[in-house]
Formats: sequence, C-alpha cells, structure tokens
Amino acid sequence: MSLPAVIDGHNDALLRVRRSGGSLLERTDAGHLDVPRAKGGGLAAGFFAVFVPGEDRLDWGGIGAPPYELPLSRPVDADRAALEAAAMADLLVRSQGPLSIVRTAEELERCVAGGPLGAILHLEGAEPIEPDLSNLEGWYERGLRSIGLVWSRPNAFASGAPFRYPGSADSGPGLTRAGRALVDACGRLGIALDVSHLNTRGLRAVLRRARGPVVATHSNAHAVCPASRNLTDPELRAVAATGGVVGITFSVPMLRPDGRLDTRTPIADVVRHVGHLAEKAGIDHVALGSDFDGAAIPDEIGDVTGLPRVLEALRAAGYGDDDLRKIAHENWLRVLREVWRN
Ligand code: ZN
Repeated sequence: MSLPAVIDGHNDALLRVRRSGGSLLERTDAGHLDVPRAKGGGLAAGFFAVFVPGEDRLDWGGIGAPPYELPLSRPVDADRAALEAAAMADLLVRSQGPLSIVRTAEELERCVAGGPLGAILHLEGAEPIEPDLSNLEGWYERGLRSIGLVWSRPNAFASGAPFRYPGSADSGPGLTRAGRALVDACGRLGIALDVSHLNTRGLRAVLRRARGPVVATHSNAHAVCPASRNLTDPELRAVAATGGVVGITFSVPMLRPDGRLDTRTPIADVVRHVGHLAEKAGIDHVALGSDFDGAAIPDEIGDVTGLPRVLEALRAAGYGDDDLRKIAHENWLRVLREVWRN
C-alpha cells in the first residue's frame, strides 16, 4: 500500500545551512533534511522557517531533567534580524529546480503530485518586519506566505511562550498595536498566521482577530505532554474553529508525557498526540509539523526519511487511507488554499 505525500509544517533546514554551510540540494548525513532525503521520505513540501537566533544562550541542559522553567529569551536586534533573515530567505528565493519556492496553492498541488520539493517561506518571529509594516509587501513579493509573530521571546508585535515543564504559556502581554495591525495585514495579503511559540494572551488575540484559518505549525497536545509550548484542549478546539490545523511536532520534549529531552522516544508518542488532537478538534484539523533540523527528534524517526514510519504507525493504529491523506497533506492544502486565495 502506498503512502500519501507529506506537507510538513516546520523545519529549520535554512538555519542549519546558514550556520554550517553546505547545500540543501545534496544528500548529506548532516541534520535531518536535504532534498534527496526529503524525496526519499515522501516529503512533497514544507514550511521552511527563517529564524534568527538571539545572542543569549538558553540553558537547554535544564530541559534534560524536568521540571524546568527557562527565563524568556531576550529580544533580538531588529536590524540584525532583518539582514540575517534576508540572507536566509535568499537561499530559497534563488532556488529553482528540485527545490522550489511555493507561492500559490496550484504550485503546492504540483509538489504533492510529484513535482519539485516545495518550500513555503515562513518567518519564525516577525522581527525582520518593520513595526510600521512598510516592508511587509516586499517580503510578500519575495515569497513570504506564513508568519509566526514570535519565537519564544518578545518583539515589536507580541510576546512568546517561555519554555516550562510542566507549565503553561500564560505569562506576559498580548499583541501590541503593531501586532494587531500585522494580523490584519496578513489577512489582507494572504499570509498564513501561525500561533506556535505565542504566549496565551497573544494566541487568544490572534484567534479573536484573524478572519481566516489560523494554524499552529509545530505544537502538540498539552493534555498529553504538559510543556508550555503545547496547546490546551480549548486552544486546539479554537484553532480548529477557525478552520485551521495543528502540525504535530516530533520535538521530543514536546512529545513525551514526561517531557524529557530523550530521543529514545517511540513513534507511539506521535500517534498519541495525533489521536488526542483528532478526538478533541477533529481529523480535519490534524497535520504534521516535524521541526526537522530544529529539534531533537525520536531515534525511531531519525530524519526526514523516517516519515513513512510515522504514516505506517498511524495506519497500524487504525487510520484509514482517507484520514492518512488528510493528516499527510490534504488538511494543509485546504487551509493554504483558503489563506492564499487572493
Ligand atoms: Zn519553533
């Protein structure tokens, strides 16, 4: 039985290549994702995040042994972020051939049908956008089709969720005036709005204000793993109520019920989050959001070539072909068709 092609909600391959060099087009052993391995894993398209790391060093060691509560990261300099983000985006904007930036639903459909590997240009943190939004249309012209207002830190638009286990994202202020204007502008232009990494007030404000579907590109179920980055049942239902989807992420401290940073994490934990999300929000709102190249992922998955093992595990858990297609790509396609319709 063949497996459906996958649209994936989040990867950090651009950051890996920007930091360590190399090419996304050649097969390597580095990280989780390059084009040859992606093709081998049945990946049709993915959200390629442009993420500018800060200068402060989070003590990720704390995550190895929950409970943990990390201080919120400091803001990044917006000018530096803009320069760095432009360089990372250029890795995609210039790419053609086997890796191709996706600007329309039709282009995305061609990727699912076996075309090039599609790259959806996504900002993880809106720091490169001027607070007066004067360069937003320029970014749209270059191919930007999805924005997460924040990473887990404050910026001109909103504030992020601190990393805690067990714990909630309920700390800090909601959207700023610029943040509200950015939500409205994304609706006008047709840019997807991502609530992953937002704190609770910001998430609620985006859900209230957005006109179309809202997505969580890489977040799991808080009821299964009570990490602050995961979404509570009311939040999962609220994203679904917009028509959006939640991309289940493979990041192990967000998968494992015990929250440990331990890659000896079974694919069964991915299946649990999928099941919980399907039960609370409905199968039409379940998608994948791996965090390849951005997180520690289960050894059983390994890298992007492990995607078929995830789909096989879902099939073995009782998901039929219709459900598998929805989870693998149809739900993302439906949402992006609607968001990008203009
Ligand atoms: Zn992230």
